[in-house]
Amino acid sequence: MSKNRSSCTPLPEFCTLSIVIPVYNERDVLPLFYRRLARALADLPSENEVLFVDDGSTDDTPQILEALRQGDSRVGVARLTRNFGKERAISAGLELARGDAVVIIDADLQDPPEQIVHMFQAWQAGAEVVNMRRRQRDGETLLKKATSHAFYRVINRISDVPIAHDVGDFRLLSRRAVTALNSLPERCRFMKGMFAWIGFEQVTLDYDRHARHAGRTKWQYWGLWNYALDGITSFSTAPLKLAMYTGLISAISAFLYAFYFLLKAIIVGDPVQGFPTLIITMLLLGGLQLIAAGVMGEYIGRLYVEVKQRPQYVLSYYHQASINANSTKSLNHQIT
Ligand code: UDP
Ligand code: MG
Repeated sequence: MSKNRSSCTPLPEFCTLSIVIPVYNERDVLPLFYRRLARALADLPSENEVLFVDDGSTDDTPQILEALRQGDSRVGVARLTRNFGKERAISAGLELARGDAVVIIDADLQDPPEQIVHMFQAWQAGAEVVNMRRRQRDGETLLKKATSHAFYRVINRISDVPIAHDVGDFRLLSRRAVTALNSLPERCRFMKGMFAWIGFEQVTLDYDRHARHAGRTKWQYWGLWNYALDGITSFSTAPLKLAMYTGLISAISAFLYAFYFLLKAIIVGDPVQGFPTLIITMLLLGGLQLIAAGVMGEYIGRLYVEVKQRPQYVLSYYHQASINANSTKSLNHQIT
């Protein structure tokens, strides 16, 4: 283990833990979430910063967050100018968080705040990244479980880094891990892959994931499909290779087939027939070409997004939590 990792042992009072919570239209669950989080944090020896990132909510989430902030100086609120998506809200939180370690947690109570104390202990014991693996997934349809399982099988076959199944965004990252993540400039952010990519000493804890406490999931199948495409294109070029090899195989088959027809024409003559073969071959090749062009298009589209170099999100406002300056050495990390 590295000696200069940011940990607060042996002086617990010199340590700050940031909790980053991406929030989008969670008015029904926020008050209970906050109560449970506050109770869980009371067990920790650290100074805490609770950073809500409001991802452009359109309900009264901003008012609720403001009330929480007024009542508790540990609460900070950042609001994005519109809904940028959970991944970007998390990126914003990771850039703004000032703690020696950062926990990312959903607001809907699917990730139990009571687990944070175990994550904290694992970090104190030396882990730079503490991943949380769900033992069970209440409240999810069979179809969602099956598609998610299939996705992780595919991506792990073709990706350069192993991406853990059943590990979501709920995790703790040390300051060094956060700095590494923040240094990744990509716009297409497949966080699960990026968490794996940074490496470091990683520990995985198991927990029971419950159904959403209130409100609705923001994920629809189309969104999940695009998320899966993002994951695959960000972490593998295998689809491009597949397109090339499919083209190669169909070209070789076409040559062999042409040779067969040439011999046949020489030996038995050339009566006009074989329309079905012709049309099937044409359609098959046309289809393959379109698929290959589509695969390239997926990559080119993402290249386009990357080269535009737009910022990942735009902040509407950021009200910092007040952290006791004596109790955190991580104020050095304050973003400018
Ligand atoms: N979320 C967000 N922006 C979005 C969608 C979701 O910040 O565009 C937040 C949401 O408020 C919640 C977390 O991300 O705190 C997880 O969202 P959700 O429960 O919809 O996802 P699921 O648990 O179904 O994967
Ligand atoms: Mg959820």
